[in-house]
Amino acid sequence: MKTAFIYTDAYLDYDYGPTHPLRVIRLKLTYDLIKAYGLLDLPSVQFIPTHKAEEKDLLAFHSQEYLNILKQANEGRLTGDAYLYGLGPGDNPIFPGLLDWSLLVTGATLQAVDFVTEGKGEIAFNIAGGLHHAMRARASGFCYINDPVIGIMRLLSHGKRVAYIDIDAHHADGVQKAFYETDRVLTISLHEAGYTLFPGTGFENEIGEGEGEGYSVNLPFPSYTGDEVYLWAFEEVVPELVQAFKPDVVVTQLGVDTFYDDPLTNLHITILGYEKVLKRIKGLAPRWVALGGGGYNISNVAQAWTLAWAVMNGIELKDELPESFLKEAARMGIEERELRGRPKARLDSQNKDNRAEMERVVHYIKEAVFPKVKR
Ligand SMILES: [Zn+2]
Repeated sequence: MKTAFIYTDAYLDYDYGPTHPLRVIRLKLTYDLIKAYGLLDLPSVQFIPTHKAEEKDLLAFHSQEYLNILKQANEGRLTGDAYLYGLGPGDNPIFPGLLDWSLLVTGATLQAVDFVTEGKGEIAFNIAGGLHHAMRARASGFCYINDPVIGIMRLLSHGKRVAYIDIDAHHADGVQKAFYETDRVLTISLHEAGYTLFPGTGFENEIGEGEGEGYSVNLPFPSYTGDEVYLWAFEEVVPELVQAFKPDVVVTQLGVDTFYDDPLTNLHITILGYEKVLKRIKGLAPRWVALGGGGYNISNVAQAWTLAWAVMNGIELKDELPESFLKEAARMGIEERELRGRPKARLDSQNKDNRAEMERVVHYIKEAVFPKVKR
């Protein structure tokens, strides 16, 4: 098994602003923890420095008109009708180098795609990727360019069948929309239900249209869902659908904002549940393009994506965090001492209604979607 880790410190040149929840430093912290564990020194691992995508790569999904607006916004100034394209103070701020940042993130996703399609290896991880909310001509939810969609489009251009699994706390609305009417991409999104969380979509009855009917799958979880119900629903739905679809490549968005101590969301997943899901995905993916995603507790991000990278490489990590990382983390006010920490999440036994709700959702998916999905 050969794997690639794609990263550059150049990410740190960009900043969404002092009060924005998406802090680019989380990527550096993740990289440092992975390195401190020695997980880039394995003989099967290739480290690939990120290169920017080209502007024409973005046009595989985004409109030229929107790209022109992003070029103006790249100067860091609010100009013209930028707000009509989702840009401006708030979720999608205009900051210097905004387009350059997006080109780096997307470039890394395309490098991950090329690594697996060129037969160099089986798994590639771009921790900066997974910006799943961006629409064709609109920034949304901290995302300017939809790198998962652009990566999947490149896989399709190579004739690959793609299953996309998104475990971020937020619905993968941009990716779902891009492939809503095709059966060449199976999208499965597990997320906090739209009643309580942005973007407000992703209900189980969104199953695709036309040729794509049955190929968009949504598991909307009630607030405070914990590992037990989450893993149960995952197991009931995801393996059977992926096995029926028989993808050549699985693309995943591995957001960690599902964790009980994430400041933006209300799910109660622990790093132990997250690790189990990652192991299950590995077993389902003949080739795997892994992307990052949300995660606004930066200690969680570093720990969970390090664990994810260990799973990808078949390594069991000890819980004791490396000394060099502890020093760096302490400087950032992080007190965590163990990789898997001591989860303080609520138990599903305290939320019996959640189990009943997910039994209803799973039943619906089995009736509406299972008979349609096939190779
Ligand atoms: Zn998210």
